Amino acid sequence: MVSSDFDKNRVHKIAKDGMTDLIRLIAENHEASQPFYLLDLATIERLMNKWNNSFPNVKPFYAVKCNSEPALLTKLANLGANFDCASLLEIDTVLSLGISSNQIIFANPCKAISHIKHAASVGVNLTTFDSKLEVDKIKKWHPQCHLLLRIKAPRDSGSLRPLGKKFGVLPEEIEPLLHYACNVVGLKVVGVSFHVGSIAQDTRIYREAIASARTVFDVTDYLGIPKMQILNIGGGFRSTQLFEEIATVVNEAVQDYFPEPNLTIIAEPGRFFPETSFTLVTHVIGKRVRGEKVEYWIDEGIYGSFRPTLYNSCFVGMKPLSVKASEESCQICESTIYGPSCDSLDAVAVDINLPELQLDDLIVFYNMGAYSKCAGTKFNGFDMLSTPTYLVSTNSS
Ligand code: PLP
Repeated sequence: MVSSDFDKNRVHKIAKDGMTDLIRLIAENHEASQPFYLLDLATIERLMNKWNNSFPNVKPFYAVKCNSEPALLTKLANLGANFDCASLLEIDTVLSLGISSNQIIFANPCKAISHIKHAASVGVNLTTFDSKLEVDKIKKWHPQCHLLLRIKAPRDSGSLRPLGKKFGVLPEEIEPLLHYACNVVGLKVVGVSFHVGSIAQDTRIYREAIASARTVFDVTDYLGIPKMQILNIGGGFRSTQLFEEIATVVNEAVQDYFPEPNLTIIAEPGRFFPETSFTLVTHVIGKRVRGEKVEYWIDEGIYGSFRPTLYNSCFVGMKPLSVKASEESCQICESTIYGPSCDSLDAVAVDINLPELQLDDLIVFYNMGAYSKCAGTKFNGFDMLSTPTYLVSTNSS
């Protein structure tokens, strides 16, 4: 590839093994000395096919919190996805792309009044709740809104980041809260939602949560409220082999527990779509040699895209690249990679083996699309929120 092949606004169509050349080309043409992302739109297509094959009856509402890159949202919308928004800003981001408010669920069980009012004003009419005060706020500021009762998954210890401590009603709270929302206040509760926690590792937790959702559907007759129609199975999925196993468990559990014909099943996958579609390219901005060990500083760190490494290791591939292919070193050294801030916690990788690198060399990190840039900050004056994204479409040959 030569410089004339580069246009920052176009989608670069390449073979998968052409990625390294493209990264070098972009690095040469990239204006600022700043990290950059590549988003592979073809991977998103492949993942949507995978979703549709595994979950033909489950409509994905992509969880925008995971990565709100506009090109990703537009691609997902074109592929038929809907959206899970957690805040006013996420709602506006989605609407600004021409996506309809009917395609949005406001899936945050505790919302500020200003955000509820905004949802009402733009026609986002489906949300979740798990407390009496939330019912009161919605009754006052958005009484037309349809509700899903968020239940605590019975066992979310089968995931790496459980959410059940903070969100979801307990079994003994279900009846009184439903009675209050529907019979006392007069709101429409149309279904149930849960989230088993991010990075689910045990497929059975979905079955157990679906069984719990059934018990909520079953109390409607007893409470004299209309039958529910929506089951929201939340997120927690990754595009690994476990995904197919989870889909089998979920599909079987739905068959076993929800025989009603008119059920709408939705999900809120976050990590599933962006995680493997984004590649992060960083630059070596400093180096120190101490005996046998080498330390590098790069222009991304834990106050930027590497924030998730604080609670789990999210990137599964790292590849150092010299700017010029001919200069790649064979000398392997024990290396530590620091981020750019003055915080000593800001280490991206410690004591790993890397070929020796020089100033301005590139270090490429794969699978960097989930909860990365969106969790960035401007700590120490490093603007980790404005990392640009270049679009790629790889064919699999
Ligand atoms: N839905 C809700 C309500 C969430 O809180 C989250 C993540 O925290 C998601 C969906 C996305 O989860 P994941 O990225 O694990 O699929």
